[in-house]
Amino acid sequence: MGYVTKADRMLIGGELVASESGEWDESINPANEKVIGRWPAGTAGDVERAVTAGEAAWPAWAAKSPYERGEIMREFGHRLSERAEEILHVEVADTGNTITPMRGDVRIAVESLNYYAGLAHELKGETLPSTSRNLHLTLREPYGVVARIAPFNHPLMFAVARTAAALAAGNAVIVKPPETSPLSAMVLAEIAREALPAGVFNIVTGHGRTVGDAIVRHPRIKRIAFIGSPETGRAIQRAAAEVAVKHVTLELGGKNPMIVFPDTDPDEIARAAVGGMNFTWQGQSCGSTSRLLLHEDIHDAVLERVVARVASLRVGDPMDPEINMGPLNSAQQLKKTLGFVDTAQREGARLMTGGRRPTGSGFEQGFWVEPTVYADVKPGMRLWQEEVFGPILSVGRWSSFEDAVEKANSTEYGLTAAIWTKDIGNALNMARRVRSGHLWINGCSSHFLGVPFGGMKNSGVGREEGIEEMFSYTEAKTINVML
Ligand code: NAD
Repeated sequence: MGYVTKADRMLIGGELVASESGEWDESINPANEKVIGRWPAGTAGDVERAVTAGEAAWPAWAAKSPYERGEIMREFGHRLSERAEEILHVEVADTGNTITPMRGDVRIAVESLNYYAGLAHELKGETLPSTSRNLHLTLREPYGVVARIAPFNHPLMFAVARTAAALAAGNAVIVKPPETSPLSAMVLAEIAREALPAGVFNIVTGHGRTVGDAIVRHPRIKRIAFIGSPETGRAIQRAAAEVAVKHVTLELGGKNPMIVFPDTDPDEIARAAVGGMNFTWQGQSCGSTSRLLLHEDIHDAVLERVVARVASLRVGDPMDPEINMGPLNSAQQLKKTLGFVDTAQREGARLMTGGRRPTGSGFEQGFWVEPTVYADVKPGMRLWQEEVFGPILSVGRWSSFEDAVEKANSTEYGLTAAIWTKDIGNALNMARRVRSGHLWINGCSSHFLGVPFGGMKNSGVGREEGIEEMFSYTEAKTINVML
C-alpha cells in the first residue's frame, strides 16, 4: 500500500493507542484519491480516557516552574524540527497544499512553542489598592483540561502552535485533528509522547460528530478552542451551553476585503491580491483576501493584471516545488467550490479566468479546480456574501470613501481586511471604519509572532497568537487578605 506514514496511533495518557472501537478510517491523497494512511476512528469513550489522563497530569504540570515548563516545550519544538521533513511530506500528501510554502508550518509551530515557553513568566496576577487596610490580589490558574479542535488546512501547525499557549499556562490539552487530514497528528503523537510528560498532550482522532461533539459536551472540559467554519462554531457554542458553562473561543471564516485606493501601482496591487488569496493552499485560508474592492479609476488596470497572473498559476502535483496550486482538500470542498461557480453564473458575475476542473494528464482523479477570478461581483451576490474557502477571487468596485466602507462591511464576517494607499490619512481612517479584527495597511495575509489574530462579527470570538491567548487559558482567582 502507498502509505505515507507508518504512524497510526493517537496519544492518550502518554501511550500510543488505537481507538477503543478497534476501528480505523482511511485517509486519501486529494491529488489522486489514493489511500495513503489510516487513523483510529475515535469515540466518546476515547475522549473520556483522554480527559481522565489530562486530569491526572495537569496538576504536576502546572506545579512546575514556568522555566521548567518552558524547557520541556522547547524540547518538544526541537524534536518536531528534527522530523520536519517527514511531517512536511505527510502533510502535503494529506492536505493537497503545495510543498514550498508548507515548509513554514513546522517552523511556525516551533516558534510558537518557543514564544509561549518564554512568556510563561508573564502569568502574573495583580495587587489592587481597593482598601488601605487589607491586601487584595489576583492569581492566574490553569483551567485543567482544555481542548483544541482543528480544521484541515494547517493540521499540524494548528495542533502545536495553537496549543502552546495552553501548555505554557499549565493546562493539559486534548487535540482533535481534522478528519480529512489527520495523518500528521499521528506523527505528532509519537513526538509529543517522547517530549512531554504523560497525559499533558493528548490527541484523539475522529469525526466531528463523534469525537468533536464528545469533547464539546464533556462536562469537565471547560475551555474549548475551535478553528473552523462558522456553522460548526455556532453548533459548538449551542452544544457546549447545553451541558455546562464553558469558555469557548472561535476562529471562523472570512470574506476579507482588500480595499484599493486609486493612488497605488496596478502591478504591485495585482501581485499582492494574488498573494493575498493564498492560492498556494487553494484559497483554503481563513485570511484569504477573497473580495478585491478596487476604486473605479484603477479597476480595469488592476483587473487585467490580476487575471493574467491567476491564469498563469501552475496547477498540479503539490509535491513539485515549481507548482503554485494543488488540489482542494476533499470531495466536499470541490463540490462546494463548484457550487459557487454555478450560482455566480446565474447571478451574473463575469467569469474572467478558471471556473472549471482542469483536464488532461494528472487530473483524471483528485479534487481539482482551476484558480478562478470573477469580476462585477456585487453586494447581493452569494460570491460577495459567503466564504468559498476555495480558489475563487471576487472583484468588485467602489467610487467614494463611504462607498468603500459600506461595501467592506457589508457581510456577516469581520476577520481580516487589507487597505492599500499611499495616503496615511485615508489608510488610518479606513482602518478605523472597517469592522475586521486583523488589518494590514499595504500588506496582505501575513501573521506575525506575538501579534493577536481573530475576528469581529460572525468571524469569531477571542484573540489568538499573542499574550492574551495565554491568559485566555487561565482563570483569575481573587484573594482578599484581611489584615
Ligand atoms: P469544519 O468546521 O468543518 O471542521 C473543523 C473541525 O471541527 C474539524 O476537526 C471537525 O471534525 C470538527 N467538527 C465538525 N463538526 C463538529 C461538531 N459538531 N462538534 C465539534 N467539532 C466538530 O471546518 P473545516 O472545513 O475543517 O475548515 C474550514 C473553515 O475553517 C473555514 O470556514 C475557515 O475560514 C476556517 N478557518 C478559520 C481560521 C481562523 O483562524 N479564523 C483558520 C483556518 C480555518
